[in-house]
Amino acid sequence: MIAAGIDLGGTKIEAQVFDADWNCAEKQRSATPQTYAGLLTAVAAQVSWIEKSYPGLPIGVGAAGLIAPRTGLALTANLPASGKPFPKDLARACGRAITYLNDCRAFALSEAIFGAGRPFRTMVGIVFGTGNGGGVVVDGQLLSPSLGVSGEFGHIYAPAHLVKAYDLPIIQCGCGRMGCIETLVSGQGMSRLAQALTGRSVPPAEIATQRHNDPQMEKVWKVWCEIVAEQFLAFDYILNPDVIVLGGGLSNISGICNDLSAALQNAQFKDFPIPKLLLAQGGDVSGVRGAAYAAWQEAQNG
Ligand SMILES: [Zn+2]
Repeated sequence: MIAAGIDLGGTKIEAQVFDADWNCAEKQRSATPQTYAGLLTAVAAQVSWIEKSYPGLPIGVGAAGLIAPRTGLALTANLPASGKPFPKDLARACGRAITYLNDCRAFALSEAIFGAGRPFRTMVGIVFGTGNGGGVVVDGQLLSPSLGVSGEFGHIYAPAHLVKAYDLPIIQCGCGRMGCIETLVSGQGMSRLAQALTGRSVPPAEIATQRHNDPQMEKVWKVWCEIVAEQFLAFDYILNPDVIVLGGGLSNISGICNDLSAALQNAQFKDFPIPKLLLAQGGDVSGVRGAAYAAWQEAQNG
């Protein structure tokens, strides 16, 4: 076995052990407890399950949220760990060192090494789901530090000209800032767009299927694509990535890469190319494998 990853989400904790070819050899899943003490115990139980068969194996935990560098305290909406020194307490509860990284960074790393980003040098991975975040990988190295803010794409401001043109709401984001793009492009954000544009709050799955026969839903989808295109254009102007890899629940919407590519090309300078848009290949396991890979990388680097 080469390494193990643990994906720590709001509802479940999934541990996977990877063999030398990076295929999942064993896995175990448990529910995410809703108390901090319970959370530490549950992750420690997964770690000791791995340790029992493979002592000393590099283990990476990918978790939602950020760790403030000055204090070591977690900032997370999906886990009962906000304001706690989570990575430190976790290492103590597990009785060993654990590689800890943001789950969106883990997703990006996994797609760059094992998934859709593999043939490319410069990649942005981005998740559209409950939240909106990702990471940047260049030459197989996560450029976004695993605990840093680079990759917090959802908390960049929404494009002003579109907010004005469509009279969209400027609301407070879960992060505390005003008017973050995540408030319009996450799953909930897409429903918020529907509310603003049509007066009806419609779940994303319905917008996706109804957009072919309901002109109102077609408009919601079009505006969502226009807003996301501006976000991707920002990636292009800062980094000029070869590829942008999409993950998360909304990436399952059929035709999403085509529609976003068209919107992106439309927003781009005339006659200039756009980055390739591809769907993630790793599915649900992408983040787990990315966390395991980050732990393995750390072990290699000593
Ligand atoms: Zn925000």
